[in-house]
Amino acid sequence: MAGVKTWLDSWPVFRQLTGPDPLGRGHAARSKRTEAVTSRTATADRVVKSICPYCAVGCGQRVFVKDEQIVQIEGDPDSPVSRGRLCPKGSASKQLVTSPTRVTTVKYRRPHGTEWEDLPLDTAMEMIADRVLAAREKGWQEFDGDQRVNRTMGLASLGGATLDNEENYLMKKLYSAMGAIQIENQARI
Ligand code: SF4
Repeated sequence: MAGVKTWLDSWPVFRQLTGPDPLGRGHAARSKRTEAVTSRTATADRVVKSICPYCAVGCGQRVFVKDEQIVQIEGDPDSPVSRGRLCPKGSASKQLVTSPTRVTTVKYRRPHGTEWEDLPLDTAMEMIADRVLAAREKGWQEFDGDQRVNRTMGLASLGGATLDNEENYLMKKLYSAMGAIQIENQARI
């Protein structure tokens, strides 16, 4: 008879109907395997507060670290913006750091090229600076009719939703200082 009881006890519906968990949201729904599992959040060495980098909502995140590696990212209940919630993108943001397909080098495809090639970061920065200066010069307008404008129509900026307030502020300063007037951000949240 004891064997039958043990067998019945392994059946979640039996536990739900006969035990103290009639809604099946706790003990009744747990298996031995569940009991043996320890969450990554419980074994982490420390927790770092951060902000989801995916969009302009800026939901708060708790980043769990073990052996100096990110092991889990969850919503931060202390955040007044998101109160512990993350959308599916934010919930999956650990992969931004740990994915084996993450791109960690500068990729460049030459004009008319068909393949991407890796460039040293310093080389890429020099190339970008050269192109920015050339475009600024080429599109420079000193006058519009009789009106002195001192601006360049050769540069424009369209920011993405992953940019935060501070980054947008710095970009506006930079582009305005270079004489650009077409400065926008696509985020409208
Ligand atoms: S991507 Fe999702 S989790 Fe991240 S900030 Fe935007 S709404 Fe929040």
